[in-house]
Amino acid sequence: MLREIYMDNAATSFPKAPGVSDAMKRYLDAVGANIGRGSYGRCTDAGMTVLNVRESLAKAFGCADARRVIFTGGNTAALNMAIFGSLHPGDTVLISAMEHNAVLRPLTALGCRLIRIPSDPDGQIRPDLLDCDWDSVRLCVCTHASNVSGTILDLAALSELLQRHDVPLIVDAAQSAGHLSLDMEQRHIAALCMPAHKGLRGPQGLGMLLMSEAFADALRPTVFGGTGSQSHSDRMPPFLPDRFEAGTLNLPGIYGLSAALEHYDPAAARKHELTLIRQFTEALAGAEHIRIPGPRDPMRRVGVFSVDFLRLDNAEVSYVLEQQYGILTRCGLHCAPEAHKTLGTYPHGTVRFSFSPATTEDEVWQTTDAILALAKMERLNL
Ligand code: PLP
Repeated sequence: MLREIYMDNAATSFPKAPGVSDAMKRYLDAVGANIGRGSYGRCTDAGMTVLNVRESLAKAFGCADARRVIFTGGNTAALNMAIFGSLHPGDTVLISAMEHNAVLRPLTALGCRLIRIPSDPDGQIRPDLLDCDWDSVRLCVCTHASNVSGTILDLAALSELLQRHDVPLIVDAAQSAGHLSLDMEQRHIAALCMPAHKGLRGPQGLGMLLMSEAFADALRPTVFGGTGSQSHSDRMPPFLPDRFEAGTLNLPGIYGLSAALEHYDPAAARKHELTLIRQFTEALAGAEHIRIPGPRDPMRRVGVFSVDFLRLDNAEVSYVLEQQYGILTRCGLHCAPEAHKTLGTYPHGTVRFSFSPATTEDEVWQTTDAILALAKMERLNL
């Protein structure tokens, strides 16, 4: 049996951080109570865990008030909440050329007018080249790091420009949370959306929306229901986080995330990731018959690489990588067709390799050796 090498951490990280499954099991087997709906001891255990996770996330991402950390069913749900709750049909919205369908589809469904921020061929935004009627721009939504090319988008330059024009910024941190440090206040981010299950190494089915005070005050709830508070009223409570947290939260997920956050160390994660990025880039530098879009400079990317095998079918390469080398990848468009158009890999897509803090140098060597061996082939032995 081949030893498996998991290279699909951009889809969801594996393995999870130590203690995640134990914490989830403890909740399911020994706590099991809801929060805000009962007054017995186990409700307090759950309530305190949820509060502690809220506070840890607020501290980690520079959100001044933990009540502005909202738990959702995932990153996509957090993005939908921020988009549908702050925009109206026909609103003009700035986006990058690297957005995921989790951003593009809600904006399109809402009938927004989209203006793309100019970008370079690596997908890096060029806010300096943006020419638009600022009076009509309602909001900007931008990913922090591309899930296709790994490009880290220049949020500093973007946020500086947006501030000058008083345009709020929503950031999709799907590929950066846990990998890169990010401080909402420092970058003047109005809303920050992230999943628990990627770089934070928590469980699936849980996401977070962190908001500035002004954004939270203006946001309309889009999910309505019981909160365990102000039950006499047929309206959502005006206070946070209840206003945006209708229904029972994913408590096993929050317990799992609580254990994952004990290992939250973006500086150490980045140091390790940079070692792997350099290794991967250097091993494949100058290789023939493949193209790797995205920045060459390790400092300008995260550990997500798209490889385009120029003489082969990328889907078949992904299959052979699993069958013959035990390397697990993802092929196709990675839910980001516009990013592929920007990078010149549309419509055929790429084979994506993505790292986590658990990825080892040895695994990266084996992966680059396999890529080099396949790139030399004119036809695959399927
Ligand atoms: N945005 C980006 C950049 C992503 O990579 C992903 C997931 O791959 C999402 C949004 C959606 O996240 P989720 O599937 O966790 O809701």
